[in-house]
Amino acid sequence: MALEFIVSEKGHRKLLTDGYPFVKDRMSDTKIYWKCDKFAVMKCHACIHTEADRIVRRVGDHNHAADVASVEAAKVVRDAQLFAINSPDTNAPPDKQLKMPCHRHIVYIRLESKFLALKKT
Ligand SMILES: [Zn+2]
Repeated sequence: MALEFIVSEKGHRKLLTDGYPFVKDRMSDTKIYWKCDKFAVMKCHACIHTEADRIVRRVGDHNHAADVASVEAAKVVRDAQLFAINSPDTNAPPDKQLKMPCHRHIVYIRLESKFLALKKT
């Protein structure tokens, strides 16, 4: 199975597995070592080793629950970026071309649409 990545608010790529994001820690000739993105905040020592785009080893357990809301927001950012990359509208005048909204704006739109959906029912 291909590795899944999300993009942080600062634009860094994070490896996503089992609902937990991992940040790149270090690299060897063949492997990439990823540590939990809550390493500093929660002192979480869960980490993953990947090799040729496959997870080859998992070390330790998370000492915290997965942050589902943040992961979902990051997926929205990633999907919007992929959409922007894959569908350039180069024939439109510059002011009509698709522009990437900032990350917080996308999250706001998503949250607002959920809120509106709740209000309608
Ligand atoms: Zn963790």
